[in-house]
Amino acid sequence: MLAVGPDYGFGLYVHWPYCARICPYCDFNVYAAKDRDTEPLVNAIIADIQAHRERLPDHPKLNSVFLGGGTPSLLRAADMARIMSAANDAFGFAPSAEITLEANPNDVLRSDPNSWVQAGINRLSLGVQSLNDTALRFLGRDHDSLQAKTAIEQVQSVFDNHSIDLIYARPGQSSQSWGDELEAALALGAPHLSLYELTIEERTAFGKRAARGELLPLPDDDQADLYELTQSICEAYGLPAYEVSNHTSDEKYESRHNHIYWASGDWIGVGPGAHGRLTMDGQRYATEAARRPEDYIRSGPMPFAALSRQDTAREFLAMALRPTAGLDLERFNHLFQRGADQETVSTLVENSHAVLDGTLLKLTVQGRLVADYIASLLAPY
Ligand code: SF4
Repeated sequence: MLAVGPDYGFGLYVHWPYCARICPYCDFNVYAAKDRDTEPLVNAIIADIQAHRERLPDHPKLNSVFLGGGTPSLLRAADMARIMSAANDAFGFAPSAEITLEANPNDVLRSDPNSWVQAGINRLSLGVQSLNDTALRFLGRDHDSLQAKTAIEQVQSVFDNHSIDLIYARPGQSSQSWGDELEAALALGAPHLSLYELTIEERTAFGKRAARGELLPLPDDDQADLYELTQSICEAYGLPAYEVSNHTSDEKYESRHNHIYWASGDWIGVGPGAHGRLTMDGQRYATEAARRPEDYIRSGPMPFAALSRQDTAREFLAMALRPTAGLDLERFNHLFQRGADQETVSTLVENSHAVLDGTLLKLTVQGRLVADYIASLLAPY
């Protein structure tokens, strides 16, 4: 048996590709919402879920569903309910399955979050991004800090299980200003925070501005300082990291859906450009849906592409290093068909990049800063 697959969790990711406007840093597969008829896309997503069931007759019930994007909070609650009922009819939900909706603050203010609960949503992830109005304008967001705070209050009156996303390490951001902003966010009382450093990708509007010299990314050392500051503030507030960018006050609020990715479980990816990983008869498969919504609607379900054992092992390693629970070296042995290099492991421990706890290799804060590099060091091929 390959040590990946639905035994490590089974989820459904639904990509809703439309946004009210496109943020200048965004590198996702997104399109301006405009005034379009979204019915054909909802129908195509439902057909894709049903087609997956036919090809996965032995897969268990779903542990999680994640409506991401894009901006899935632009979906009508009735359409969310249709997608949920298609997922339930096809696979069913495991007891206490986690059903997350990513929402933008203005959609919370415009909609009735209770209608999302009725559609089956039980966890809300709110894209606040910043509590600083200048930063929100810089990030091209269509909400201000007051709207964000009002939206958080509304979310909290409906969802116990909720999370706030923030983006830091913005150009010119000082430790003092990020520290103050993070403390203000922590004071809002969300039990889960996702804290991402701003990365400037070439093909985005920010990438183009950076190439013209109009935008200066924060130097790496300053980014590292802000990451360390983030860890110490969150720990002091009782929300330690449980993964490189994710923090919670209690295990019960950890993102079960993301744990499926980090644990190399199986997930179906539906919606334009969505990726999936599925395991059958000891073989891991990758799926990738057509990126453009028109193509996705036209093309129907895409073929499953077999992943080599090496790629499966490398993906496992890159993801398994991220949670603070650590990389299981026995699974490493099994997937790579050889042990991790002892000297590399010892050096990581000596340099305080990791600690060894039985068979678990756990990255320290310094290690988490260079998790991808450590994965490349440990990969035997
Ligand atoms: S709202 Fe989110 S997904 Fe949409 S463009 Fe902005 S960052 Fe990208």
